[in-house]
Amino acid sequence: KIQLPGDVTYIIHCLQAAGHEAYAVGGCVRDSLLSRTPDDWDITTSARPEETKALFGRTVDTGIQHGTVTVMLHKKGYEVTTYRVDGEYEDGRHPNEVTFTSNLIEDLKRRDFTINAMAYNEEEGLVDAFGGREDLEKGIIRCVGDADERFTEDALRIMRAVRFSAQLGFAIEEKTKAAICGHAENLRKVSAERIQVELTKLLASPHPEFLKYAWETGITAIILPEFNRMMETSQQNPHHSWNVGEHTLRAMRAVRADKVLRLTMLLHDCGKPECAFTDEDGVDHFHGHAAAGSRMARGILKRLRYDNDTIDKVTELVYWHDCEILPEIRAVRRAASKVGTALFPLLLEVKRADLAAQSDYQRAEKAEWLDRLDSLYEQIQEEGDCLTLKDLAVTGRDLMAAGMKPGPQLGRTLTALLEFVLEDPGKNTKEYLLANLPKET
Ligand code: ATP
Ligand code: MG
Repeated sequence: KIQLPGDVTYIIHCLQAAGHEAYAVGGCVRDSLLSRTPDDWDITTSARPEETKALFGRTVDTGIQHGTVTVMLHKKGYEVTTYRVDGEYEDGRHPNEVTFTSNLIEDLKRRDFTINAMAYNEEEGLVDAFGGREDLEKGIIRCVGDADERFTEDALRIMRAVRFSAQLGFAIEEKTKAAICGHAENLRKVSAERIQVELTKLLASPHPEFLKYAWETGITAIILPEFNRMMETSQQNPHHSWNVGEHTLRAMRAVRADKVLRLTMLLHDCGKPECAFTDEDGVDHFHGHAAAGSRMARGILKRLRYDNDTIDKVTELVYWHDCEILPEIRAVRRAASKVGTALFPLLLEVKRADLAAQSDYQRAEKAEWLDRLDSLYEQIQEEGDCLTLKDLAVTGRDLMAAGMKPGPQLGRTLTALLEFVLEDPGKNTKEYLLANLPKET
């Protein structure tokens, strides 16, 4: 038995009282059966959109042409969609036309996977026409109906299959998997924005390493060919036990499930294939790969239409991920100042995940080194040490009051003063700094 929220029961009962059928449907039914809390509750009904609108006080026409009306209750929105059959899909993108139907099973049939094609209400209980419950118990992602047809209608479902498998830790059923291999090419027709949404959900899931299935089935060859290059790049040196791609999968798994961190681990070594060099002893080197990778990461993230804030953070973290920081307080202050206080704690997490995914060569020493960096940074924060120009005891205005002319020299002087202070925070007073201005160069 599924416990529906009060608002959902209310909406279903209103629709039923007006002579219509109504059920909770899709993701919320799946998540309830898994004892997970659904993000949102969708309702499917035999009522036409205008009939739904007439029954509720506040509604929004979210996708009226596809039959979707959002009912607002207690400041929350509930999508109520009329039973529908999807028409032909234009270029495997969106249905050209939708036809409303009065038959629930017809509506469930158009849905992507068996686990997403169940409906529930208190009167009828669970409506499960395609074995969704059994697949949930067995942990299987399976298309409703013929997998080849379903992926031809809408190629985004190819991404969704792998995304759900990573979120739930499920296997993809054989025929569904074979159909993914056969139709992965169709992802070229899907917009970058829609792919990005699914890729982000996959990466931020409990199993980001399931990206490997996207690689095996030919998905990454279309949406992220750079990852295929990583899988083809071996790294024969003491630091690694796996090729670049396998290391990447492990590094993603080792970092917290956060969008920026997971994208950083995905791309931290993307420059390695470009920078690989094997010496005469057969040892692989990758000089300059972090800077090259940071540039490449920007191109990849732009292509996938990520927002600028995410792009800036990820490319910075990729750039610095391999930097050396001596385990002493002045070096940590300088590094935190250079990387920025917003990103430095994330950089420490990135370094830890990278180490966790490497070979056990010098692992104990390196882990100890990272522990030192963590505690030194903690100490710096507790002391409130100045790390940025903004926290410097002297401003450009102070320098001009002391007789300096405006111009680029002013900025250089402030930077030099910050260097002083990073060496010794005790020097961060107006008196000391103004009395010890660096010689003009
Ligand atoms: P999430 O927890 O990520 O929201 P969800 O299953 O609710 O998962 P939605 O994208 O919100 O996924 O879609 C709601 C429902 O609509 C799905 O459960 C599925 O039944 C159906 N659906 C969504 N996208 C498609 C699609 N591309 N093809 C077929 N059915 C789809
Ligand atoms: Mg949903």
